[in-house]
Amino acid sequence: MNKQAVFAAVAACLVSVAFTQNSIELENHGIAVANMDRSVKPGDDFYRYANGEWVKQAQLPLDSGFIAIAGWTEDQSSDLDRKRSADLIQEAIKTNAPAGSHIRKIADLYRSYMNEAEVEARGLAPLRPHLERIAAIRDRHDFARALGESLRVDVNPDESFFHTPNLFGLWVGPGFNDPKHYAAYLLQGGLGMPDREYYVTDSEEMRDFRTKYQAHVSAVLKLAGFTDTESRAQHIVELEHAIAEKHIPFADEQDIQKANNNWKQTDFAAKAPGLDWTEFFRGAGLRGQRDFIVWQPAAVTGESAFVASGALDTWKDWLAFHLIDAYADVLPKAIADERFAFFGTIISGRRKQLPREQRGIALFNNPLDETGNAYLEGRGVLGDALGQMFAQRYFSPEMKSQVQAMVLNIIAAYRHRIEALPWMDSATKAEAQAKLNTLYVGICYPETWRDYSGYEVKADDIFGNLWRGSLFDYHRFVAHLGHAVDRREWCIDCFPQTGDGRELTMHNAIIFPAAMFQPPYFDPQAPAALNYGAAGVVVGHEITHTFDVEGSAVDSSGRIRNWWKPADLEHFEAVTAALVAQYDAYKPFPDLALNGKQTLNENIADLGGLAAAYDAYRASLTGAAPVQDGFTGDQQFFLAFAHSRALKANDAFIRRQVMTDAHSPEVFRVATVRNLDAWYAAFDVKPGDKLYLAPADRMRIW
Ligand SMILES: [Zn+2]
Repeated sequence: MNKQAVFAAVAACLVSVAFTQNSIELENHGIAVANMDRSVKPGDDFYRYANGEWVKQAQLPLDSGFIAIAGWTEDQSSDLDRKRSADLIQEAIKTNAPAGSHIRKIADLYRSYMNEAEVEARGLAPLRPHLERIAAIRDRHDFARALGESLRVDVNPDESFFHTPNLFGLWVGPGFNDPKHYAAYLLQGGLGMPDREYYVTDSEEMRDFRTKYQAHVSAVLKLAGFTDTESRAQHIVELEHAIAEKHIPFADEQDIQKANNNWKQTDFAAKAPGLDWTEFFRGAGLRGQRDFIVWQPAAVTGESAFVASGALDTWKDWLAFHLIDAYADVLPKAIADERFAFFGTIISGRRKQLPREQRGIALFNNPLDETGNAYLEGRGVLGDALGQMFAQRYFSPEMKSQVQAMVLNIIAAYRHRIEALPWMDSATKAEAQAKLNTLYVGICYPETWRDYSGYEVKADDIFGNLWRGSLFDYHRFVAHLGHAVDRREWCIDCFPQTGDGRELTMHNAIIFPAAMFQPPYFDPQAPAALNYGAAGVVVGHEITHTFDVEGSAVDSSGRIRNWWKPADLEHFEAVTAALVAQYDAYKPFPDLALNGKQTLNENIADLGGLAAAYDAYRASLTGAAPVQDGFTGDQQFFLAFAHSRALKANDAFIRRQVMTDAHSPEVFRVATVRNLDAWYAAFDVKPGDKLYLAPADRMRIW
């Protein structure tokens, strides 16, 4: 359910930290008073009141479209995580571990990425056999096979990752109708730019993106040795435009009721004629898979028809372009720079590429592309191996049990909140409680570590390492099909060293990696108000996802089933509609408002998470909360929450977020406080204050 996970990350600057070798000195365990702008009235703009001074001082780095507190970037890591990961990788290199060991694979993968001289020397050679295969495609039968061979497990609706530049994406997850077994989900794809809106929205900005995208496609083809690239690029972009028109909008993709479409492999030819499905599934190694769940059937049907009607030469160019673009970062610098110029700068507003060392670390921590929107092939494959080192080095069993206690307190607070809901019938409450009973909670690190013995890593072959890595992950997931679901398995982009919580609706699981619980946002020595206000709110947020619109459609066994009494469901739909309206009214730009429907699940989670963490915080107190810097316990709690969301971004970044992200921009996430009575009391917020809502207009869902 998490997308662009950096926004879900806990990133509170609760304490000032100074790095010494491998250790952190905590200088201050209180809230970051220096970040605040106390000339702003909290009731007028709580975000600015809490973070105004920090926002004024923060400098947007050239290599990012935003800066977040604690150094969070789009690679899902904070400064501290990156430093720790970098230390562990250097250690792996120095160890000179035996060939085939996980430590050696970590060292070799990093070495191969850092060896730019080797990348330049090899030039286009690693690509050549793949391009030759595409050039050798004679007919649509061959083409269908090639499309099947390009299929990857590179989408994940459990985390709202719906984008793949391949024609379709595969997800292997618990079946909608048989949640005890893994099912094969097929999703729409085929677009290079992050979302259909980039192709179909008629605005000056979007038209500009389209023009520049076509120039990018042409430039990439040219650098890879193609001729006549301008007209080829034009045809590719026209094809993608046609695909985009068939795509289901992001706001609708999150509706799992619409996604529950069961097709047998034998149905595809009739339901989606055009593509030679037999060859496609043969290429994908899925001929033996009888059943599929097709997430966006209309789009799959539309895309399949285009495969038959579009010019084969254009399709082959499209396939070649996407292959080159996916691996651009490990091809000669001219191609890598071209990709960054478009996706990094034009789409994401970054003025400079990240240092190669940092990208090398991100290879282990983050499978996402520059836009944070799609899984890049072969990224994150060894994340679990580095995560094992990370957890062993930095997280003691004592630390884990301390975190566990906080998580259990928040779940207990949740139970009380459900029991106390005045509008909900006892039968509906019982199933909601049952969902909490069966929830799998992963804390700090997984119970078992992945086995990478089948993954070959060579110290001088980054292209091959990523290629083999993406296939390794693909086969690992395909091998799950039909087998019993292991809800304890962590998601594909979720590792101990990545600092964001996850909720996996279809797994009925929530995951809180170790990196969430470290300074500066979780500090064993800080007052409870701060830990609950920052890390605790994220815990509550993820729990609430099991009860958002998507989570509410799934019962305690993980099956899609309406477990609601009709009147309860009616109430839930009415309050969620009101929450949609609250967010629809927020306008980051005069010409662009938030999409309350697209962000609904995250907004529900923010609301429920803040309320549950607050209750748990109050329940954790054994006496009066200590006053710090003149702030009461409740004030510290809300300030810690707002501090954790401090982020400064440029316009390109915010625009992309509003259009393609399930999360609202941070300013509006912090405004969630206006729905909680306790916040009004804590800061003496009165009618006339800009954030003021009359008690009847304050949203309460869970
Ligand atoms: Zn979320």
